[in-house]
Amino acid sequence: MNICNALIEGAEILKKNSISSAQLDSEILMSKAIDKSREYVLTNSLEKLDQKSLSLFSDLIKSRSFGKPIAYLTKKKFFWKYEFDITEDVLIPRPDTEVLVESILKLTKNRTKLSVLDIGVGSGCLLLSIIKEKKSFRGVGIDVSKKCIHTSSFNAFKLGVKNKVKFFNSNIDNFKFGKYDLIISNPPYIKSFELKYLEKDIVDFEPIVALDGGLDGLSEIRKVIKNSSELIKKNGKLVLEIAFNQKQKVKSILFNNGFYANKIIKDLAGKDRCIISTKIK
Ligand code: GLN
Repeated sequence: MNICNALIEGAEILKKNSISSAQLDSEILMSKAIDKSREYVLTNSLEKLDQKSLSLFSDLIKSRSFGKPIAYLTKKKFFWKYEFDITEDVLIPRPDTEVLVESILKLTKNRTKLSVLDIGVGSGCLLLSIIKEKKSFRGVGIDVSKKCIHTSSFNAFKLGVKNKVKFFNSNIDNFKFGKYDLIISNPPYIKSFELKYLEKDIVDFEPIVALDGGLDGLSEIRKVIKNSSELIKKNGKLVLEIAFNQKQKVKSILFNNGFYANKIIKDLAGKDRCIISTKIK
């Protein structure tokens, strides 16, 4: 069978299983199966596939048709300007989270040598994107998941910034190391009982620990803010990703912990997504 025929067959199977981007996904999975770029796949469609590539392709199509996200199949995801390695133990980097990178870069435009802490570092996409852009910054990333630490350390190595960041496998409540100019976090903030309403691709495959924000969706945000107030320098900035409907409650938690909420930033869909605050007392 040649590439073209396999692509068509793959896309048909995906379509039958209600995968909306069937054609594109089939192409991406083919490029993974034969370890070539998507451009190669499209310009060499008459090339015959060997048995090994064909069976790998068919396994990938099968997994995708069960809803497994493309990023977990290719084990890579572009975020900001860089490609991150990912595993099923990390949350897939979201385009909406790039809004945080943009805001942080604006916020620190004229600043050098800041120390940055990322709470719940996951794949490292947020922290490492900042560290790549700001050469004199130094970063620390912590995560409750040891596997996340493994992935974020690998990404730091891959992006050539290994000597600028340190990672710790720790719960935020037990982390007492250092004082920071800037703390960033994309904590889990979905209400536990609402997890089941997320898209199946998300809830069936992504790590629940990275999504579940407890009964009111704010349990982890509360912990992040409370501990940040101990770990941040006076006048330091705390930048958080939040859900579209958490602005008021998060503002009041910030206030109760000595922070002033400076600004809310909207995501690509125009919904509140990021809150910037300053430690004032
Ligand atoms: N934005 C993610 C989602 O909608 C949630 C990420 C999080 O809880 N930090 O799935």
